[in-house]
Amino acid sequence: MSAAITRGWCPSLFEPMAARDGLLVRVKPRVEGVKATQLRELADAAAAYGSGQIELTNRGNFQLRGLSDKTLAAFSGAVLSAGLASADPAVERRRNILVSPFAGPAAMTVARQLEAWLESDDGLHALPGKFGFAVDEAAADISVLQVQEQMMVALPGGYAAATPDPVAAVKALTHAFLGLADASMARMAALVAARGTGALFAAAGLSMVVLPPSDTPPPIGPMRGAFGLGLAFGIQDAVMLRGAAGLAERFGKGCLRTTRARSLVVVGTGDGVRGIRAAARALGYITEPGDIRLRIAACAGLPACPQAFSDTRAVGAGLAAHWAGPGVLHVSGCAKGCAAPGGAAVTLVARIQNYDVVQNGRAHDTPVAHGLSLDEAVEWMREKRLCR
Ligand code: SF4
Repeated sequence: MSAAITRGWCPSLFEPMAARDGLLVRVKPRVEGVKATQLRELADAAAAYGSGQIELTNRGNFQLRGLSDKTLAAFSGAVLSAGLASADPAVERRRNILVSPFAGPAAMTVARQLEAWLESDDGLHALPGKFGFAVDEAAADISVLQVQEQMMVALPGGYAAATPDPVAAVKALTHAFLGLADASMARMAALVAARGTGALFAAAGLSMVVLPPSDTPPPIGPMRGAFGLGLAFGIQDAVMLRGAAGLAERFGKGCLRTTRARSLVVVGTGDGVRGIRAAARALGYITEPGDIRLRIAACAGLPACPQAFSDTRAVGAGLAAHWAGPGVLHVSGCAKGCAAPGGAAVTLVARIQNYDVVQNGRAHDTPVAHGLSLDEAVEWMREKRLCR
């Protein structure tokens, strides 16, 4: 394995990760979104060659589990023939770009140019596999945002630079990362912490400003002529995914987008939402942005993950009816905290036989309570009025 793969390695279609339930791969949507026909092909391949479960990640990728050495080639072939991946493993490793379902024409032009650059520039081979870009989303190593008529490039930490040429600015920041990051740095946030945001913008010839705050509602239910389909824990099965493809054809323009909120967005639904809401609910999708299940996070846990000490999703599903706190309740199978890397209001961190509790932090932060049984953890939350 090369140094480029080792630094910030992430599973992709051609670089599966071994889990307890088989091989895990990720399929990355292109910036134009996923057509209903492609979604059906993905659902069919997941059912034929994997577990049939299709997860959505917080980077808007599809995550497939339960593949094996015997089925991986057939699955990859199906994904390639559906037009959902590049045949070049190096391109698949670095093709990490998430576009908001609501990106306007100017932002979409930028997204297409960035995607073409990521697919064609072999000079990006040293980019870590975790390094990602976003357009009209401020949650990536480098983001492009359209603020009214102005294009801005943003780095982690709430700073940005206005630019008339966002593609050139992204390239300059990427090359600043490649030139300045040491071998331990897989993400831009690590370089920002080491060098400071101002120095990075200056290295790219850009002038830093504070990023204006934005408050985007969760992309669930009707919004701006589209309809978001939410998922408990970001999981759906092949039947649901085929159903989502049908919703896109029946109520939209035959295309769906993925979001970092782990939802699917049917684009072009117009104002008539009653029909799609009822049909989406019948398939098992969440259609209300206030649904409590959207505020419960849980990683794969047992039995899928070899590091797990708990069946996190079963625990999370059981706690959904009781959670009364602000923000997110996170059930983590170990201290890695995959399901809520940015932290949560409360995190129950599974240990060999019990749970630690972290409040307003990440799974690896210092717990406020140690070694509680699940009942004791619930009682702890009740005392804090975080649980009913
Ligand atoms: S948090 Fe731990 S147990 Fe959960 S998926 Fe990540 S590594 Fe596995």
